[in-house]
Amino acid sequence: MNQRPTPPMIPFIDVAAQRRRLGGAVDGAVARVLGHCQFILGPEVRAFEAELARFCGARHAVTCASGTDALMLALRARGIGPGDAVICPSFTFCATAEVAALVGATPVFVDVDAATFNIDANRIAGAIATAKSAGLTPKAVIPVDLFGLAADHTAVAAAAEKANLFILDDAAQAFGATFNNRRLGTFGHATATSFFPAKPLGCYGDGGAVLTDDAAFAQTIESLRVHGHGSDKYDNVRIGMTSRLDTIQAAILIEKLKIFPDEIEARNRIARRYAEALDGIVIVPKVPPGSTSVWAQYTIRVTGGRRDKLAAALKAEGIPTAIYYPIPLHRQQAYKHYPVGEGGVAVSDRLAAEVVSLPMHAYLDEPTQGRIIDATRRALVS
Ligand SMILES: *Cc1c(COP(=O)(O)O)cnc(C)c1O
Repeated sequence: MNQRPTPPMIPFIDVAAQRRRLGGAVDGAVARVLGHCQFILGPEVRAFEAELARFCGARHAVTCASGTDALMLALRARGIGPGDAVICPSFTFCATAEVAALVGATPVFVDVDAATFNIDANRIAGAIATAKSAGLTPKAVIPVDLFGLAADHTAVAAAAEKANLFILDDAAQAFGATFNNRRLGTFGHATATSFFPAKPLGCYGDGGAVLTDDAAFAQTIESLRVHGHGSDKYDNVRIGMTSRLDTIQAAILIEKLKIFPDEIEARNRIARRYAEALDGIVIVPKVPPGSTSVWAQYTIRVTGGRRDKLAAALKAEGIPTAIYYPIPLHRQQAYKHYPVGEGGVAVSDRLAAEVVSLPMHAYLDEPTQGRIIDATRRALVS
């Protein structure tokens, strides 16, 4: 028996390493907010929204309390509700479909492409047909830019246009990524993103934003995030909610956005090293021409039923892995009664059995990554 002690676990995402790099900049930003005490919608919120819009090229950025709220605010601003169908991939984080259900609409699941993990736009027409035959009105599609890589927004737009679907891009994992050499934030009618700490651009709590070029739409979102206010907060013109980004989080995000381009480069350097070392041993993710990824996850596919064996072998060497996502939404207890679009979701099922994500963050140093690569090779090449 191998009696070697387990080496200390390396972090899956090293939030502390970034905190050390930012050091005084974040402390100073938080101290300024503590000084002026405008904790709700203070000046840093507006300043961050302007920076965010500039960064991705969208005309308007409206921040809110989470990525889930960003998606829900966008559906509500569009007036989507009971009797409407919202088409989304089955292979995604639950929030994508959850928001459809939360506004009273019906999510309709479609399959994804095995190479990109993103929505298979060829299946949108089938999902529209499924929705109609169930008596629903197809209203929206939510493509997800999974693991940091943009969905095929050209193909999604073409499929959505035929049925006049509202396109809401779920870029919670991919803010900063590009498609057709343009940053996400301007594809579709609106884009939602998240600042959950583990996302590529994360804050120190919960946060999110909606990006859009549509001024009236942005104004509706601003109203909805503060109880549906009209000309002032005691003039209520619609049913809204409470969903604001805290001023402290905005102040932190202003500092983090400054180093974000550099972090995206680092993530891409690390992804290239993984790809060079592991291609052929596992199925490594490929980035289509014209796109870039921000590598929210580095997700490989391990075929032949060896995925769980690999995860166990890595764990024994102090290397954490994660499975995003072990159960596709069409099999989840809370979602399995919702319709699956024509053509089925076989790829989503297959991916759930094959995927495993390796440690990925901008501060993963070469020796540590070398350890991960060596252990992966040892576990699979024998
Ligand atoms: C994280 C995530 C969300 C939700 O973001 P929160 O800020 O955690 O609410 C939505 N969609 C996807 C694809 C996500 O990964």
